[in-house]
Amino acid sequence: MTSTVDAPTTTSTSPARALVCRGCGTEFPLAAQHACYECFGPLEVAYDTEALAKVTREQIEAGPQNIWRYAALLPAGQDAATRVTLDPGMTPLVSAPALAAEIGLRAPLWVKDDSANPTHSFKDRVVSVALTAARELGFTRFACASTGNLANSVAAHAARAGVPSITFIPSDLEQGKIITTAVYGGELVAIEGSYDDVNRLCGELVETDEFEDTAFVNVNVRPFYAEGSKTLGYEVAEQLGWRIPAQVVIPMASGELLTKIDKAFSELVEIGLVEAPEGGWTVFGAQSAGCNPIATALHDDRDTIVPVKPTGIAKSLNIGDPAAGGYAIEAVKRTGGWMDYAGDDEIREGIRLLARTTGVFAETAGGTTVAVLKKLVESGKLDPEKETVVYNTGEGLKTIDAVAGLVGPTHTIKPSLRGAREAGLLG
Ligand SMILES: *Cc1c(COP(=O)(O)O)cnc(C)c1O
Ligand SMILES: [Zn+2]
Repeated sequence: MTSTVDAPTTTSTSPARALVCRGCGTEFPLAAQHACYECFGPLEVAYDTEALAKVTREQIEAGPQNIWRYAALLPAGQDAATRVTLDPGMTPLVSAPALAAEIGLRAPLWVKDDSANPTHSFKDRVVSVALTAARELGFTRFACASTGNLANSVAAHAARAGVPSITFIPSDLEQGKIITTAVYGGELVAIEGSYDDVNRLCGELVETDEFEDTAFVNVNVRPFYAEGSKTLGYEVAEQLGWRIPAQVVIPMASGELLTKIDKAFSELVEIGLVEAPEGGWTVFGAQSAGCNPIATALHDDRDTIVPVKPTGIAKSLNIGDPAAGGYAIEAVKRTGGWMDYAGDDEIREGIRLLARTTGVFAETAGGTTVAVLKKLVESGKLDPEKETVVYNTGEGLKTIDAVAGLVGPTHTIKPSLRGAREAGLLG
C-alpha cells in the first residue's frame, strides 16, 4: 500500500476535463461513452488548457524513453502504477536522403519508423492509452475490432497485464497478423466478413449484458484510444529538436491517426512548446486504390464519405466506412494539403523503394504511404523544397507475401569457388 505521504511531487492528475462532441460541441463527463446523446456525433477528449500550458520541455525530456514522457498531455496514465502498457514509443526518426534523391525531394526527408514498437505497429500507442483508461474505468476484459495490428497489440497488452482479452478480425487477414495475435493466448474470433462487418458486430456486442465488463478499445473507449495517436506528433517534433516539419504524409484507415497528429502539432503551438513553421504545416493523407473513400471524397470535393467495399493488399488500411474520414478531410484542407491513393503494384514498389533506400522494411500500409509520397511529388502537390516526414506505421514481416514473389536470392550457387566464379562473383 502506498500512503499519501509518498505521493509524487509532479502532478499525477489527468489534464482531461470532459468528453466533447465533435459534431455539436455538447460536453459529457469522462466515461466509457463514444457517441453524443444529442446528435450521435463522435466524442473527443477535451483538456484543461491551463493544465496543458504548465507542461515544459524539460519535464518531458526528463521522462521515460516511451510515450509516457507525454503523460501530462494524455487523458490517462499519469500515475505509472496504473498503466496497462508495453511502453511503446520513441521509435526512430530515420534520415532518408537516398529516398529523397530518388523521388526528387530536395529538402530533408525523414521516415518515422513506428514498426519499432513492441508489437511492430503504431497501434501500441493507442492501445496503451485506451487500456490504461479502461482499467481506471473498471473494465475487466479487453477487446477490439481489428484490421490486424490492433488485435496484435490488444492481445499482447492483455497478456502483459494478466487481463483476459477477446479480439475480433476479418477471417481473410494475413497469416502474419493472425499468428501474431493468437500467440498471446487470448480469445481470437475470425469473422467471415469485412472489417466493417466486424466493427458493426462489435458495436452490437458492446451493448449486451455479457460484454458489460468489456472495453473495446476502438468502440466504447474510442475517445481515449484516439488520443494515443497524438504521441506520433509530439515525438516527431521533439526528435526534430522541438520543431514541426513543414509537411507530413500519413496513412489513413479510419482517418483518426491523421487528425490526431495534426491535433498534436496544434497543441504544441498553443501551449508554447514549439513555434509553428513559417507558413504552417501541411498534412497529406494516403490510402490504397482498393479502399479510397476518404481520398476520393476530397478529389470529388464532396463533404460526405461514400462507403466502399475494400479490396487489395493494404489490409490494415481496409476500412470501407471510415469514422474520422470527414475530420481527416477537414485537416488536410485547412493545412493546404492533399490525399492520394496507390494500387497494389505501386504499394509493392513502395515497400521495395523504402527498403532499398533506407533499410526500413514496411508492411503494406508503409508501402502505400511511400507510394503516395512519390505521387504527391510527381503531381506537384507536395513541395520538394520543404522538409517532410513520412510515417511508416507497421512492420514488413507481418505482410511478407506482398513482396515474396518479387524478391529472393540474386544468385544460388554450389558451395565452392568454382560455383562462385560461374555465378560471376569473382569477375
Ligand atoms: C490502423 C493502422 C493505420 C491507420 O489508422 P487510423 O487511425 O484508423 O487511420 C495505419 N497504419 C497501420 C499499419 C495501421 O495498423
Ligand atoms: Zn453532438
